[in-house]
Order: sequence, then structure tokens, then C-alpha cells
Amino acid sequence: MSGKVNVIDHPLVQHKLSIMRNKKTSTAKFRSLLAEISMLLAYEVTRDLPLGKEEIETPMTKMQAPVLSGKKLVIVSIMRAGQGILDGFMRLMPSARVGHIGLYRDPKTHIAVEYYFKLPQDIATRDVIVVDPMLATGHSAVAAVDRIKGVGAKSLKFVCLLAAPEGISYFHEYHPDVPVFTTSIDQKLDDHGYILPGLGDAGDRLFGTK
Ligand code: URA
Repeated sequence: MSGKVNVIDHPLVQHKLSIMRNKKTSTAKFRSLLAEISMLLAYEVTRDLPLGKEEIETPMTKMQAPVLSGKKLVIVSIMRAGQGILDGFMRLMPSARVGHIGLYRDPKTHIAVEYYFKLPQDIATRDVIVVDPMLATGHSAVAAVDRIKGVGAKSLKFVCLLAAPEGISYFHEYHPDVPVFTTSIDQKLDDHGYILPGLGDAGDRLFGTK
């Protein structure tokens, strides 16, 4: 079974993404665009949340008003670049719980090494949205989802800004039940595991560390 991939091809998203890819774009602009795109991604990824009805009273009359009725959400950020997507998600869903997984990529093997792990205790009863801007080799994404499923989570989605075809295949080999949401499936990975054409190192561009 191969998993589902949703490409958010809305013109506003694609336009903002092109500015982010440009190497001349400043850290401040990159950061604010990532927050804006993330809100649009959050809007798309929550499109299927179930609604129920609740009686309210408007200044005019009573009505059965639609309200969210499904499981509560947790957003899990893969640090450090995930923080950039997390910001936009929290603006749209201010009461969502938040978890963090710290993973760094061994530069030689590209294997994900964990250095931090903190999730809400009731994660098994919640819908989980994992966020990381770059689905490159897929190693970090697989390691993060392995860990989150390991503590009992059953309903997950994975959100990234860019995905490489190799990363999607690797991720869905291990987690075909987890749909991927992205704004672009790029060409391929380079020899160092970076996405082409991509946007460079998302963490460095977001935090201005290079
Ligand atoms: N991580 C990044 O930040 N950029 C890439 O292209 C791949 C992984």
C-alpha cells in the first residue's frame, strides 16, 4: 500500500514559496513567509475535521451552530526547522497541544539522531500533525513518526513545505497510513541529501545561522 500525498498548489502558496526559494530573500522575509504559508497549510490539513452542532443564541435568534466535534489535536514539531511551521499552526489553532522532537541528521550517514523528546501525555487520544519543512531523505520523518506511534498515537498526518520523491517513497515504505501534505514535490536529492531545487538549509535560513 502506498500512502497519500496532498500537494497544496494554491497560487498564493506557490507565489510565497518561490520567494522563499530565492537565495536573495532575507531571514526576516523567509520567516514571515513560512509563517504565512504554514497558516494556509494548517487550513488545508484540517479540512476534514468533523463538525457537530451546538445550540447558541445570536442577537437575533437561536440556532444550531457548527462546532468542531472530533478528537483534540497535537502539533508535533521536529526541531529545529519545524518551529517555523509550528508558529503558523499555533496562530490558527491556539488551543492545540504541542510536542517537540529534537533530531539532527548525522552528516555522513544522514541517519536521524534523537536529542529531545517531549509530547503531551494524552497523545494516544489525540489526532497528531507532525511538522518539518523538508521531507528530504525521509529518515527524520520516519524516526519521528516511529517514536510518536511508539507512545500510542494512532491518527497522524505529516506536513512539510517541500518533499523529495525519494523522501516520500522512504516515508511511505514505513508509514503508508500517514498522509503527507506539502506545497511541492521537487526534483530529487543531491549527494548530501539536500533537496533540488529546494531552498537550501531550512533551519539556517529560518534562524540566520549561516
Ligand atoms: N534539510 C534542509 O534543511 N534542506 C534540505 O534540502 C534537506 C534537508
